[in-house]
Amino acid sequence: MKPETIVLHEGHRRDESTTSVAVPIYQTTSYQFDNTEHASKLFSLQELGNIYTRIMNPTVAVLESRISKIDGGVAALAVSSGQSASAFAVQNICHAGDNFVSSTDLYGGTWNLFSNTFKDMGIECRFVDPKKPEDFENAIDEKTRCIYAETLPNPKLEVFPIKEVADIGRKHNVPLIMDNTAAPLISKPLDHGAAIVVYSTTKYIGGHGVSIGGLLIDGGNFDWEKAGDRFPMLNKPDPSYHGAVWTQAAKPLGPIAYILKARVTLLRDLGSAMSPFNAFTFIQGLETLPLRMERHCENAKKVADYLSKHDKVSKVIYPSHMKDEYLKRANDYLKNGFGALVGFELKNGADSGKKFIDNLNLLYHVANIGDSRSLAIHPSSTTHSQLSADEQIAAGVTPGYVRLSIGIEHIDDIIEDIEQALNKS
Ligand code: PLP
Repeated sequence: MKPETIVLHEGHRRDESTTSVAVPIYQTTSYQFDNTEHASKLFSLQELGNIYTRIMNPTVAVLESRISKIDGGVAALAVSSGQSASAFAVQNICHAGDNFVSSTDLYGGTWNLFSNTFKDMGIECRFVDPKKPEDFENAIDEKTRCIYAETLPNPKLEVFPIKEVADIGRKHNVPLIMDNTAAPLISKPLDHGAAIVVYSTTKYIGGHGVSIGGLLIDGGNFDWEKAGDRFPMLNKPDPSYHGAVWTQAAKPLGPIAYILKARVTLLRDLGSAMSPFNAFTFIQGLETLPLRMERHCENAKKVADYLSKHDKVSKVIYPSHMKDEYLKRANDYLKNGFGALVGFELKNGADSGKKFIDNLNLLYHVANIGDSRSLAIHPSSTTHSQLSADEQIAAGVTPGYVRLSIGIEHIDDIIEDIEQALNKS
């Protein structure tokens, strides 16, 4: 089935006890076991089934199966936020004394997690600029457990060289983890060699700005057993689960060692579970994601085209408007659209940027992306204001840079609002 059909039918046709067609919100903490033998089999993973909602829930499971199918994965794990998904993705295979390599082009929250919180935990993050994919190879050593990057990172909006870096990783038995938050459906990192995909479902998947959530998807395409010594956390007995060796324990269930371990150790112990109600809102969002992404991308392209002809605008940052290697990456890794994020620089710098934002009527001034509504922010005076001037430039934030997250309103209304705000900036 194609994504448009999967989002409506995968994992649930009707509720077995009530015949409900809509996915019910199973707002329960616990599940009645048949008998002590049944309970014991569930706990020892001899049989898969519901135990306790911190670890699994039937509403959440439908979301997991739909998103995993769309991205070509074998299984998924929903968690309470995108931040939690990024943290789990790395912590599942990397502990104190280990290192991992990350692209420098990251969401600020992820940057902080990697460079400060993980450092405090004894996990070293080695940052590499993705301008030259070959530089990732130099950062890998025998203690490197994964490579992490974002498909379409803002504010630069330069698409990550997924296959180039995935190939380098695979040469060294190091998996690539891709944060695909800004490019659901239009990019499928697993098809290009990534092993794991993470999402903040808070953005496009939810789409309506009502819930915070995250997801990890296991591509089932990485041989953790073959990689042997590089992954002691998957290949050696785990004292936290009666000495289970995850690559062996998962065998009867499929190539799901990574995601199984994340669920029954990290989620069990750290507890950042997605609530059934939030999963329900993400299921609603996912049902219309294919249509919304089409409109998001179509509108954003029109806004980028409009801005590139405006005399107050010195530069437009949008994947299809880039040149050379960056345009090639956009064409290689994005399909059916170039995303909904548009950056632009105003000729008159920071003052103009602030005036533009203050004069918007329709576009919301918020620190979010991926809402059905159009959003705008002036990073230099907000999200990136704690950085020095030089650091801002390195992050791609010039004083006059404005970031737009284009929604699904009528394009005429979006452009009219941008135009009147530009006239006053
Ligand atoms: N990844 C990306 C690319 C993001 O933009 C964000 C949030 O803005 C996150 C992860 C974190 O997601 P959440 O806010 O759901 O924790």
